[in-house]
Amino acid sequence: MEAMRFDILTLFPGLFAGFFEHGIVRRAQAEGRVTIGVHDLRHFTHDRHRTVDDRPFGGGEGMVLKPEPLAEALAALDVLPRAERSPEPPISVVLTSAQGRPFTQSTARELAQLDRVVLLCGRYEGVDERINQLYCDRELSIGDYVLSGGELPAAVILDAVMRLIPGVLGNEASGEFESFGAPDAAITTDQEGVPRSQHGSGGLLDYPHYTRPAEFAGLQVPETLLNGDHQQIRRWRREQQLRKTLANRPDLLARAALTDEDRRFLRSLQTPSPSD
Ligand code: SAM
Repeated sequence: MEAMRFDILTLFPGLFAGFFEHGIVRRAQAEGRVTIGVHDLRHFTHDRHRTVDDRPFGGGEGMVLKPEPLAEALAALDVLPRAERSPEPPISVVLTSAQGRPFTQSTARELAQLDRVVLLCGRYEGVDERINQLYCDRELSIGDYVLSGGELPAAVILDAVMRLIPGVLGNEASGEFESFGAPDAAITTDQEGVPRSQHGSGGLLDYPHYTRPAEFAGLQVPETLLNGDHQQIRRWRREQQLRKTLANRPDLLARAALTDEDRRFLRSLQTPSPSD
C-alpha cells in the first residue's frame, strides 16, 4: 500500500498542527495511508525580511503573494510546471481561492484517486496569477464566502479527500453511505440484492442518526428504529433522506438516483417546512 501524499504550502504552518494530531487524520498518518508535509513559504525567501508579498500592479488595496517563494517551494517538492509534468504519477496542484470552482464531494472523489495533492494557501488579496497559470491544475473554493487565508480550505479539502482513501475510515463502505454519496450507488446492489440507493446516500443528504438513551429531554427515538424490522428501517431512513434533501437542498434531487417509490413519496409530501 502506497501512502497518498499531501503537501501544503502556507505562511502559517502552525495553524495545521492541532488538526493533524487528532482523530482520523492522525490515525491515517500513523497507519501509513497518508503522508502530510506542511511547508513554510518564508523558508523560500532570500531577503533579510523574508518578504513573501508585494503591492499589486495596477494599484488598489492589499498585498499579493509573490510568485518566487511559491515557485521555489514547488521546485523543492519536485513539482514541475504543468507543461513539463508527466501524467505519471498522477498529481494535482490545487490553488485555494474564493474565485475557484466549488469543491464538492465529487471533486473529493476525483482527488482521492491520485497519488499526490499539493495545496497552495493564499493570503492577503491572493496569489500572483502566474502561479495559477503555470502550476495549478485546479482552483477550488470551499464556499461562497471570503476567508482570511487558504489554510482552512486546505484542511477542509485534505480531510474530505483523505476519508475517501480505502481503509482510512476502517469500514470501506461507510463513505459511500453518507451525504452526497455517489448517485450511481443506485445501480449496484448489496448481498441481499437491495439497490444500494435504498440504504446508501445515492446523491441525497444523509438521514438523521440516534443513539442511546431511547428517550432524551422528553424526546423519543422514532419507533421504527427500535423494532428491528430492517426493511422498514431502510424505508424510513430513505424517506428521511428525501424529506431533508427536499427541504434543505432541493437542487440535489435532480441528479439523485431515485426509484419510482422515491418519486411517489416526494409527490406525497406537502410543501415542506424547515423543521421537517
Ligand atoms: N481577493 C480575494 C477575492 O476577493 O476573491 C480574497 C482573498 S482571501 C482574503 C485570501 C486567501 O484566502 C485566498 O487567496 C484563498 O487562498 C483563501 N480563501 C478565501 N476564501 C476562500 C474560499 N471560499 N475558498 C477557498 N479559499 C479561500
